[in-house]
Amino acid sequence: MGENPNLVTIDPNGDMLIKLKYRSTAQSKWKNESESVEDWIAQAEAAKAVIENETARPEQKPTEVHYLVSSRQLRIVSPYFEKMFKRNYDETVPNSEDGLYHVRAQQWNPHALAIMLNIAHLQFAAIPKELSVRLFVALFLVADYYQMEDALRLFTKEWQEQLQEQPMPTLYSEESMLWMFLGVKLKEGEIFESMASLAMREACHPIQFLDLPFPRGEKGERFFLMHKSLLTLIGVGQLDSMRCKAIQALLAGTHKLNQDLYEGNAGCNDACSAMMLGFLQRSLWDTKLLSHIEKHDQHPFEGLSFDVIYRGINNVVYDQSYGIIIQAGCCQIRDLLYPICEKAEAHFELDFSTF
Ligand SMILES: [Zn+2]
Repeated sequence: MGENPNLVTIDPNGDMLIKLKYRSTAQSKWKNESESVEDWIAQAEAAKAVIENETARPEQKPTEVHYLVSSRQLRIVSPYFEKMFKRNYDETVPNSEDGLYHVRAQQWNPHALAIMLNIAHLQFAAIPKELSVRLFVALFLVADYYQMEDALRLFTKEWQEQLQEQPMPTLYSEESMLWMFLGVKLKEGEIFESMASLAMREACHPIQFLDLPFPRGEKGERFFLMHKSLLTLIGVGQLDSMRCKAIQALLAGTHKLNQDLYEGNAGCNDACSAMMLGFLQRSLWDTKLLSHIEKHDQHPFEGLSFDVIYRGINNVVYDQSYGIIIQAGCCQIRDLLYPICEKAEAHFELDFSTF
């Protein structure tokens, strides 16, 4: 037998034990963006092997925490528990040894579960004044699963204000996706839009939603967002297709321009077309994008982000503007490239009509 589990008393007169098992060494679900899909698969297999090894070794058992709670209180606050008792599951038969109802729980952050249970029991003194972004997210995960979000929302105002005072992430990362999740849950349009934009522009693979319970945009799972006095209907599942459409528009537009220059359909004369073609090809070669524009319809664009292509294209403009003295009155490639960029970026607009 292992050590006795920790007991957290939420209600001293409680009649139910929630028995949580969790691993403190749980792996992050975030995958390094600069690696290939093959690397990801290899890492997942390695991680699986580690977990299998751990379960083979008794000292690597998960930690167990028990929470003493009131079943009546939880049934009032949570439709999940109410349903459990109405349907007479095994958990609703008192344990023969201690007379308590025993309910198993897994994988939750133990602090988040304690906070949520304290909220459900209105134990104000035990509810923290400050919360990290990660714990805030973990709290919503618990609330989402046990259907206690209404109760949680009575207490989020202060934490939400703290969040607004913190600097937002500036790169697409695990952290930015946690922020995006909070942006959705707290109906903070500005946070959601900024973090969604980072994800769509910088993701080199399909966007990593980290298995967070985002509304996916399927029927009945959309949510409304109030922002800039617009009521926007969002399904985050669509962010991925917006990313792909924008990348495709950028690659296809550049591909067409390349062809038009080859055929002399762009530029004011042959010499002008040839010169612009030279700049375009040289820059695409330098930025390793030449082969990608040929494959402009190959979704989901693994290993390629919108911003990398965008910077590559702007590099062309820089080359022509500063590399040589442009003949008076002759064309500038930026006038041909900017409309392509603009058209591509239009796919990022979180517009009511695109959902
Ligand atoms: Zn010209």
